[in-house]
Amino acid sequence: MIGRRAKPLTQGDADGDKTSSRREPPTAEHMLDVLRGTLYASPFSVFSGVRSAVGARVTDLGIADGVVADTSHGERIVLRALEVKRSQSDLAAELADPSKALAVGRYCETFELVLPAPAKNFLGSKLQIPFGWGLIEVDGPRATRLKDPTNRRAEPAPQSFINALLRSAGAHVRPKEHAKAAAPERRIVGYVSGDVVILGPCLHYATRPRAKNASIWLPCFGCLAEEPSHSAAIAAALDDADPEALESYAVQIARLLGRRVA
Ligand SMILES: [Zn+2]
Repeated sequence: MIGRRAKPLTQGDADGDKTSSRREPPTAEHMLDVLRGTLYASPFSVFSGVRSAVGARVTDLGIADGVVADTSHGERIVLRALEVKRSQSDLAAELADPSKALAVGRYCETFELVLPAPAKNFLGSKLQIPFGWGLIEVDGPRATRLKDPTNRRAEPAPQSFINALLRSAGAHVRPKEHAKAAAPERRIVGYVSGDVVILGPCLHYATRPRAKNASIWLPCFGCLAEEPSHSAAIAAALDDADPEALESYAVQIARLLGRRVA
């Protein structure tokens, strides 16, 4: 049961940045990353910040938050437009002029709105999803499709748009850098095998850096995604614990069990 809780076994600096990151809505890049790992994992490819064409002199330039390329249809490529909004004002601006989305959307068979959970907080009497648009809600590392989009006829994508799509893929290393900056620093507290280390106090697994004299502090992507601690890491930490640490774990476990029974 402990492994299902995102809370670290030992209290540390983890709590401070966790609560603050929970209140802050997830970034558009984070939401697209979640889609890359869930609803739009392979054979889909998710591109972010896609221009309607490349070049300095494009008339009616539009930039889509995300475009999904579905490559499972053999001869042709099916494109889907994603509008990723992280605040109500962001969404209101988008819905005020849905035609802006068409610069890229004309090549797409579906439109989907991607919102942080709970999506219903964004939508109300004033803000309605445009007819035919789908709705996806992102909650931490999960994505749920709340409404299916209606398929529409798409114009064949011209080479200028394919170029824009491919160019946006070149910028795709950036989300990793963003994630690295956003991930809290955790200390290496144990070694699993080969390249895998355990970080503490959260007990997430991480990849050991190759460099010699590398820092014992690493950005923890497990904390960033609010994943539960790895149960094997918890077992290892209990095995390694000195009597004092074991005592503090026992107190916490008793407290958790007491809370569950009550
Ligand atoms: Zn962690």
